[in-house]
Amino acid sequence: MKLIDGKKIAENIRMEIKTEVARLIDDDDKTPHLAAVIVGEDPASQTYVAGKEKACKSVGFQSSVYKLPENTSEKELLEIIMFLNKDTEVDGFIVQLPLPGHISEEKVIQSINPSKDVDGFHPANLGRMISGLPAYLPATPYGIVQLLERYNIETEGKHCVVLGRSNIVGTPVSILLSRKASPGNCTVTVCHSKTKNIKEWSASADILIAAIGQTEFVTADMVKDNAVVIDVGIHRVPSTETKSGFRLKGDVKFDEVAKKCSYITPVPGGVGPMTITGLLQNTLKAYKKEIYG
Ligand code: NAP
Repeated sequence: MKLIDGKKIAENIRMEIKTEVARLIDDDDKTPHLAAVIVGEDPASQTYVAGKEKACKSVGFQSSVYKLPENTSEKELLEIIMFLNKDTEVDGFIVQLPLPGHISEEKVIQSINPSKDVDGFHPANLGRMISGLPAYLPATPYGIVQLLERYNIETEGKHCVVLGRSNIVGTPVSILLSRKASPGNCTVTVCHSKTKNIKEWSASADILIAAIGQTEFVTADMVKDNAVVIDVGIHRVPSTETKSGFRLKGDVKFDEVAKKCSYITPVPGGVGPMTITGLLQNTLKAYKKEIYG
């Protein structure tokens, strides 16, 4: 079994970005700028946004964060988005999800100018991705395909089973891996909460992508010998063995599944670091006006 070291690959890509940014700034003194909007005090969202700021600094990007109170109205948030859409100082921005219940995520996503939608959630970017046109790819699926690519894992003709069909992970990764492209050319099966006999599907996968948000759902009997397993899940579980009092686990029961795999991503240190890296790559594309000219 080989461990897919997402932390190392993410570091390599960030070094590549840093080098390119240094060169670009030499030609044009403006720095790539990623902005983030966060509404409310959700601790996980605060952690993600802090991680994004740190990652921006590490590659030489400028970053700014708009922290809004929980009771911000939808109208106020939409006004900030309109401002960011027009702000020529900002290359790309994200609105951290989830949003408080009184704000429509759909409306918010659709109000972002697609040319600044570096999360790749706007229907225009999803449509471009489906059509095989250059697009900002949603960061987690983008990270997953890059892991497969950088580890030279063959995808063509393979059966890929994706557990989960969310708009941010399951559905886009299933599209990317079934595209006539490399990585891609897989035969893809998407499973969800209404799928019958999920174990039979998962056990037939050459490449199994677990993105269902259920701690250690995938057990050894659900995995074929020598399968490639990509674990997207992130769960904080209480632990007496760590200082913080918790540890991170994935959607896959790592200890028993790892023994059967050809490749597997750990949690932490697998898909997670690649997600922020994907966002940095999209921001660089926005700065270079690679997608929308
Ligand atoms: P989500 O929006 O909650 O979607 C979960 C999907 O799994 C849904 O399609 C759901 O089916 C399906 N599902 C749930 N329980 C199931 C079950 N028992 N059997 C079969 N299917 C089931 O989750 P998400 O946003 O895609 O995230 C998935 C996991 O990845 C979470 O743990 C999240 O924290 C993690 N995540 C990690 C990263 C990263 O950077 N590593 C990024 C994003 C998300 P229905 O559609 O039928 O409801």
